[in-house]
Amino acid sequence: MELVPVSKLACGDVDLERFLELVREILSRGGVTTTVAVDPKTGAVVYGSELCATLAKLGTRYVPVSYGRVEEVFVPLEALGFFDEVRPSTYRVFLSSEELLYKNWPTPLVRLSRASVGGRVVWAKLEGYNPWSMSVKDRVGWYMYRKALERLGRVERLVEATSTNTGLAIAAVSNIYGSRLKAYIPSTVSRTGEFLLKLFGTEVVRSQRAVLTVELIDEVEEEARTSGAVHLNQFYNDANLEVHLRYTAKELELQLREAGVVPKAIIGGLGTSGHLSALALYFKSRFRGVRVYGVVPRAGTSIQGIRRVESGMRWVHLVDLDGVVEVSPEEAAEGVLRIVRSEGVLVGLSSGAVYAAYRQLAEGGELEEGDYVLVFPDHGFKYVEQLEKLLKL
Ligand code: PLP
Repeated sequence: MELVPVSKLACGDVDLERFLELVREILSRGGVTTTVAVDPKTGAVVYGSELCATLAKLGTRYVPVSYGRVEEVFVPLEALGFFDEVRPSTYRVFLSSEELLYKNWPTPLVRLSRASVGGRVVWAKLEGYNPWSMSVKDRVGWYMYRKALERLGRVERLVEATSTNTGLAIAAVSNIYGSRLKAYIPSTVSRTGEFLLKLFGTEVVRSQRAVLTVELIDEVEEEARTSGAVHLNQFYNDANLEVHLRYTAKELELQLREAGVVPKAIIGGLGTSGHLSALALYFKSRFRGVRVYGVVPRAGTSIQGIRRVESGMRWVHLVDLDGVVEVSPEEAAEGVLRIVRSEGVLVGLSSGAVYAAYRQLAEGGELEEGDYVLVFPDHGFKYVEQLEKLLKL
């Protein structure tokens, strides 16, 4: 057996269901149990190409390789360089604004001291510390763009349906690489969101009809077909799930290890379902007994960035959630107010919703003593208009 850099192998691809199956196996065992067989003459992968592709998607540095035939051997995650990509740059010098994103990870994990009562310790992962959209969506916009670039060589024009954050993320990476973005936004997006997109150089089409971003997909797909623009499509692009497995989840594991914590549960919002599905898959494979709760708007209401499961999501049905909690926009705004007034941290409305859901579960007696991770998707500055209306301070 030899450890070969993943960049030296042409692993090919693996379909989504098999990928998830292999991810569960690799993460629950803490490593791989067989090699990938390579032809000694040509270097082509002759057996285990799905395992090879899965390791490549998970961002390991190495693949265990044998020549001619497969060997049964246990190679732990650490030996594969599984965590190597999430080492932070200590002095925070970045050679480009693209590095400012991925070399500045992990986003902070912070203990919310005043929210930690009743024997429960609350940890918040602050995705608002991403540089472009100040949200979790920077990860997705960047990774989908990079994957498209790898596939196509060059990306001139893009079209995307967005409720602001993904649009800002794609706009930022487009500006770095010299592409142009046309963003389709639903009627519910704030004027601030629309203006920010324009500020980033995006052509914005505001729908009069659509309330949810996902309702714009067919229109955007048609536009991509007729104009030849690239539609990354955050709702169906598996790079959305993969980026959170490759980075977000690993970061969180290392951060929790540093804090000496195994969480009882992780609570997060559901929009495309990308980040929470990845965290559920990852943490339920790595640690037995960790529960995962999703947060959605109450029926008939809307909270920017999250939506109801029945509106259709690609990944959440492929993982195991322990519950879905409903929150009203008023409760979400109240959540923001509580966080900013108790901790001094201004977070977005969907983060307020996640905090409100945590409180609902805690007050309902569902959360025993222990540690809880709340994923706060973005920063609060973008929501000043909505917060002003909802809170009447
Ligand atoms: N919160 C905000 C502010 C968002 O922009 C999004 C996604 O658009 C989410 C939550 C939900 O994240 P995901 O799409 O990974 O489910």
